[in-house]
Amino acid sequence: DVKTDENVTFEDLAISELTINSLKNSGFIKPSPIQLQALPLALVGVDLLIQAKSGTGKTLVFSITALEFVQIVDEDSTVIPTKVIMLAPTREIAQQIVQVIKTIKQPECIVHTFIGGTALKDDQNHLKKCHIAVGTPGRIEELLRLKYLRADTIRLLVLDEADVLLCKEFQDQINSIFSYMPLNKQVLLASATYPEYIVRFSERYMRDMTCIRIIDSDSPSLIGIQQYFILIPYHPIESYLFEQKVLLLLRLLPQLKFRQCVIFSNLRMRSSAVCERLKSLGYETTYTSSSLTQNRRTKAMRDMYKHKCQILVTTDLTSRGIDLDNVDFVISMDLPNDHETYLHRIGRAGRFGAYGCSLTIVSHGDEQKQLENIQNEYKLNLIEIDEQQKFQLL
Ligand code: ADP
Ligand code: MG
Repeated sequence: DVKTDENVTFEDLAISELTINSLKNSGFIKPSPIQLQALPLALVGVDLLIQAKSGTGKTLVFSITALEFVQIVDEDSTVIPTKVIMLAPTREIAQQIVQVIKTIKQPECIVHTFIGGTALKDDQNHLKKCHIAVGTPGRIEELLRLKYLRADTIRLLVLDEADVLLCKEFQDQINSIFSYMPLNKQVLLASATYPEYIVRFSERYMRDMTCIRIIDSDSPSLIGIQQYFILIPYHPIESYLFEQKVLLLLRLLPQLKFRQCVIFSNLRMRSSAVCERLKSLGYETTYTSSSLTQNRRTKAMRDMYKHKCQILVTTDLTSRGIDLDNVDFVISMDLPNDHETYLHRIGRAGRFGAYGCSLTIVSHGDEQKQLENIQNEYKLNLIEIDEQQKFQLL
């Protein structure tokens, strides 16, 4: 039998039986293209950049690699050393990675989230028994500095959303984290894009980074996502303009068919107000932003993962990396400042090749121009609709 990429299963890769079975139990049978290309190298210890667009299954590449590390038994089995650190740019992504590992994990593997907004003392206790530490750079750096997290046992360091983690905002923390790491460790970077600064970083901190890139020849826009936009008249008073958008949203929502919907806006205060209005109209809606307490942030995401809520109103805190597999509609109340974030927003609909819709509400003038720029830059196919049209969205 000749094995083609189509009929390869996880069993054909050099993965332990234990992990294969856990993968099967959680419904993962066939590796996705990026998994198929990256796993064989990751599993033999090569330093990798894993680049593929959003929703293609990068999390499993580094999670499976980590699980295989945990299975290597140490001479001194009385202690449970932390062997893997995974870094993510937001607390929400860190928590999501932990959930993924927990669903495929073996009972012996202990994985925990280490993020800001929680008690350091609890972290210290958790670190006494933890194979895989997943967290945000600030907290992980702090734990290394306090020596709550021992660096000498680390064998694998993962940077998810590496293009974000390696930009200026996190630079000092990342440099500091690497300064604690032993020389002999594997580094995996997962990223949807391939900016030049990743190469510079790899020259400094990685051993001959191999790039596994799956790049579609056409635009990075996600094939299964229908993108619509709707224009409203411009008004110089911003709050008035936003109110017009909200009123439009409220008129449109009853016509839209979706399982779960994410509504983005640049401003926290506005998102929270939109959430309250939707709730008062009976929509099961939740809201998150970085200014909420960690408990409320965690609860908002949990309500979405568990389908207790149908609508999430949010800021760009959750425009990247978040995998809500029932989200099939994304609404943008405004345009994000950088163009790439538009792609990340709409990418929340249509994970792993699923179909979805996005609707962007823009006003005549500057916003309209900005949307045109995004459309041209990424060669997107956006369809204009108007309210009267009684459009039939998916
Ligand atoms: P990325 O990090 O590349 O944006 P994720 O790792 O979050 O994407 O995966 C996106 C979705 O695809 C998740 O819901 C995940 O469960 C699903 N998925 C990943 N790999 C597989 C697979 N081999 N078979 C089926 N579903 C998969
Ligand atoms: Mg991801």
